[in-house]
Amino acid sequence: MAEVENGGRAPRSSGLKGIGVSPGYAIGRAHLLDRRRMKVPKYHVGATEIPKEIERFEASLAESESQLQEIKDKLQNAGEEHFFILDAHQLMIRDEMLVDGVKNMIREQNINAEWALKKNIKSIRQLFENIDDEYFRERRADVDFVGDRILRNLMGSAHPNLSQVHGDSIIVAHDLSPADTAFLLRTPVLGFCTDVGGKTSHTAIMARSLELPAVVGTDHVTEVVGDGDMLIIDGANGRVIVDPTPEELRHYQRLQLAYSARRAQLAVRKNEPALTQDGVRFRIAGNIELHEECGLVLESGAESVGLYRTEYLYMNRDTLPGEDEQYEHYRHVVALCGAEGATIRTLDLGGDKFITPLKLGRELNPVMGLRAIRFCLREPGIFKVQLRALLRASAHGNLRIMVPLISGLSEVRAVKVLVDACRAELAAEGHAVAERVPLGIMVELPSAAVIADLLAREVDFFAIGTNDLIQYTLAIDRANEHVTYLYRPLHPALLRMLKFIVDSARQAGIRVSMCGEMAGDAFYTAVLVGLGLDELSMNAVSIPLIKTVVRALDTAECRRLVMDVLAMGDAPEIEVLVARRVKEMLRGQIPIEVFDPDRQPQP
Ligand code: PEP
Ligand code: MG
Repeated sequence: MAEVENGGRAPRSSGLKGIGVSPGYAIGRAHLLDRRRMKVPKYHVGATEIPKEIERFEASLAESESQLQEIKDKLQNAGEEHFFILDAHQLMIRDEMLVDGVKNMIREQNINAEWALKKNIKSIRQLFENIDDEYFRERRADVDFVGDRILRNLMGSAHPNLSQVHGDSIIVAHDLSPADTAFLLRTPVLGFCTDVGGKTSHTAIMARSLELPAVVGTDHVTEVVGDGDMLIIDGANGRVIVDPTPEELRHYQRLQLAYSARRAQLAVRKNEPALTQDGVRFRIAGNIELHEECGLVLESGAESVGLYRTEYLYMNRDTLPGEDEQYEHYRHVVALCGAEGATIRTLDLGGDKFITPLKLGRELNPVMGLRAIRFCLREPGIFKVQLRALLRASAHGNLRIMVPLISGLSEVRAVKVLVDACRAELAAEGHAVAERVPLGIMVELPSAAVIADLLAREVDFFAIGTNDLIQYTLAIDRANEHVTYLYRPLHPALLRMLKFIVDSARQAGIRVSMCGEMAGDAFYTAVLVGLGLDELSMNAVSIPLIKTVVRALDTAECRRLVMDVLAMGDAPEIEVLVARRVKEMLRGQIPIEVFDPDRQPQP
């Protein structure tokens, strides 16, 4: 990596702490993406460029003033006398607090005019917000109006978006929607960091799938980073370094190399099965969001696809995917997976995943609203297109259909009725369908976990979705960084549920897998082996490490560990015990930081 160019400025190295959601190190230039409002270019300027920035700012003020004058003239010509609001706006444009404030920021903070204006408008707005008078509080809108007008004049017209991102960028955004993140598959970048977001948000999951180092929940990274600033992302430890010093750069370049070397070493046996010390085989599968990822998870050592989140097929487009298009995608995935086949999940829209063609009404609590199977049963026309495509694809390999967010028996039965209807239609039309297409459910609601014994008699397999099961059991929004500290998969309530789900599946003789993020976190592998799951499904990046951990374990020892933790009452104590016992079991074969109980984010 070349020494950093900072336009003659000395590096101002500063660090930010967030939640590390996707491991690895990214070193590159920031690309700011401000989706909330207009995309504002933010960059640092050298001392020689300051007069030019001030000049640009003054020109934009003059332009804004004459635009307002023009509007006033038009109103006057039309006989309209009441333009006092425009007068007020003209006065604001020349207000000292605004004008001098921006100029001082340009001079003192070495930042461009747009950035200074945005910062200054924000602080003026805050002043209004704190006034205990309704009328003055309402004037915030006028501040925004004036600010936007000046900003537009400063910026001209071009508003860059994700499609203009370069491959060597690190995306910096207030938030990225799952759809934005899916877009990154086709627009390769080095990594990203955001102001908000939680550990198991879909954006975080997508980052792991794409193997992009990522830090979320930094609170204010968009405030301190400018476009083109040098950045380092430490995706495992949740650190963002802005404008690193040469020493920091060298340090992280070394870590980056060591990380790649460790991954290369873990990958040596990635294609061998995961057999424990006492010879028990655990199936390791891959989670994918887009069919293009199928090759990647198989190359990383997955034996099959354990979760295909098909809703991503519906995103970033203006129309819904038709039956033939879906059929081609599913057929492709099933064919690549060979004998072990693929578990394809039906549409899980809603929650934090929305799509353009469906103008779904905004709900107060979307996560508890018309999400996933609830939406599909309400819109059987849309659901049947997918079911037909899945059934047709089943003729080409080992395809399993999995239904998300099941809360009880009647939903399972309603799905079966629709599947049977689609099968009958396809037969009448002369389409081939596999004789048996296993139908399973995600166990990801507390209600489903508690009646797992009843559900197990109705379906062919279970897949435990810990991301939602934890969200709904502990009442923690998975996309909210403020409650991430409560994300504790070893909470006794969850451990009891997991045990009951696995035992219920055993009793009914059906297969049980886990495809939530817990399955891909090596800290929990011994507990999951001890619980007796058949399959663990995860992002590509986790597969070689989890296989290595499984190979070092003994199932009897893991079962003893599970018995011990089930007798305990408090998650932090359980974490300490698990860390100690697993370290003993692994006898130093695996990097130790994975098992550090302190890595859990604290409030
Ligand atoms: C889960 O909830 O654990 C799961 C795997 O589904 P998703 O993350 O897509 O909600
Ligand atoms: Mg889920």
